[in-house]
Amino acid sequence: MTAKQKKTGLVEVYNKLLGQFGHKHWWPADTPFEVVAGAILTQQTKWENVEKAIKNLKEEELMDAEPLSEANLEKLEELVRCTGFYRQKARRLKDISMFFFKNPDILEKPADELRDALLSLNGVGEETADSIVLYAADKPRFVIDAYTRRICRCMGLEGGYPELQSLFEDSIPEDVPMYKEFHALIVEYGKQFCGKKRCTECIIVKNGKM
Ligand code: SF4
Repeated sequence: MTAKQKKTGLVEVYNKLLGQFGHKHWWPADTPFEVVAGAILTQQTKWENVEKAIKNLKEEELMDAEPLSEANLEKLEELVRCTGFYRQKARRLKDISMFFFKNPDILEKPADELRDALLSLNGVGEETADSIVLYAADKPRFVIDAYTRRICRCMGLEGGYPELQSLFEDSIPEDVPMYKEFHALIVEYGKQFCGKKRCTECIIVKNGKM
């Protein structure tokens, strides 16, 4: 596949997914900080579990950097237990909250600076950092998750995180709403098709070919 075909292919995928599911308007959150907390909680679990934990945190008035950074660790573990790996996540939530409390203007920084700062934190990898850059800071960084990698493999697009991210960012317009929508559509497709092995009904590849 030529570079031009790869780029056209990804735009076609976006249009197909948008036609299939419509706009997803992701990420559902009342504040940018809620996106930050959700990005930690969603690691290795379903979104339904994250919703429960977010509700628990809100009920305890902890959904902000200062109160969350000061929360009792054991209490926090109980509140986020439903998301799995709760000890690790409670610790990570406290760490990232402290960081946001000490750096209240961090989301205003340029995308590269923000991303590097996030990556220096315990438990924040590329996918989590880019989710925060895109959905909390509204800056154009394409998020690569497991479903994106899977779909790319099926399309014959190989590479690690940075290569796939560059491929998407070079293929579609640098448009924050489109980046947000495209990632959300991929996750929806992944859940409904790839994850359920509905490959015979695949709308992205036919018989393993674009
Ligand atoms: S539905 Fe199957 S063939 Fe289609 S992209 Fe997902 S894993 Fe690949």
